[in-house]
Amino acid sequence: MYLCISFFLLMLLLLFLFYYYYKTSFDQHLRTFIEFNNDITVITDRMYMLAMNQTGLRFFGQKDMNALLSKTRYLSKLITEEVAEDNRYITSRTWVTKVDKNQPIKVTISRPTVKQTFMMHVSKINSRRYMVTFRNISKTLAEKNVMTQIAEKDELTQIYNRKKFNTALSLAIREATVYATPFTIILFDIDHFKSVNDTYGHNVGDKVLIQMSALVRNLLRGDDLFARWGGEEFIILSPSTRENDAYELANRLRQEIERFPFAHVKNMTCSFGVAEFSAGDTAAELIQKADKALYKAKVSGRNKVSLADD
Ligand code: GH3
Ligand code: MG
Ligand code: MG
Repeated sequence: MYLCISFFLLMLLLLFLFYYYYKTSFDQHLRTFIEFNNDITVITDRMYMLAMNQTGLRFFGQKDMNALLSKTRYLSKLITEEVAEDNRYITSRTWVTKVDKNQPIKVTISRPTVKQTFMMHVSKINSRRYMVTFRNISKTLAEKNVMTQIAEKDELTQIYNRKKFNTALSLAIREATVYATPFTIILFDIDHFKSVNDTYGHNVGDKVLIQMSALVRNLLRGDDLFARWGGEEFIILSPSTRENDAYELANRLRQEIERFPFAHVKNMTCSFGVAEFSAGDTAAELIQKADKALYKAKVSGRNKVSLADD
């Protein structure tokens, strides 16, 4: 009987030792494995961090895992999820068990001097081990921002181009339709610009376009969108603005342009057409209204502001 119990206990002990050995050697293998990854890589159980590779420890400025764990055992304390409040993945201490394993999550990690953006990916190793990797996308994002900025800007004047204006106009129409908020566009065109090119040459003409853009840009509010519509025509989208206020703005711009001492040519004037969005207008219809108003300003003597509704 005693022999039987002893044998049973011995087997139990052996089983336990085997399990312990298996578990520690498995974790040891994981620790070795994550060092092969160049991205920040973390091994967690269902709740706590167990290991982080050297890339990660270096990023967080920790000399080893113990130093990191003395600060926090929760990975979620080191990262900030970059999503709307009601759409978070990191919502509980066992979040690694719940997140979609095929869906990378955008997070930022703030270090004292820099904040960087990562795509975080969670993989399930087994029911108690999860691997979390972070791919740094800050550089890609910065490059993308530069590319977007280049794509939105007019090369000569460095204000927005027609493409960007059209996108903003579509958005403004959608917003005005949903929230019934007003907005107005101002289309303006330099008077007798051809004679600048003819008299002083194309380079001087270009300089006038650059100076004109800078002058108007500095006179506008931060939320007015100012773009080169083409050639010597410019366009402004003034959000939350009624036709009368936009008329005042256009008239102020007209006066400032009239008295600005442009290089070489000295005096320049512009003609303005102002049109407020009416429910049901398409982008093309609204532009056409402004264009008609601009035409009126031209034929009535130039250096004038005309309203579409007059
Ligand atoms: P109006 O008062 O009726 O507007 O007369 P205008 O001479 O300004 O109009 P017109 O349409 O006859 O001429 C516009 C000129 O603008 C012709 C074109 O060569 C010039 N232009 C268009 N884009 C540029 C540019 O990027 N640089 C320069 N220098 N000139 C340009
Ligand atoms: Mg023109
Ligand atoms: Mg012109």
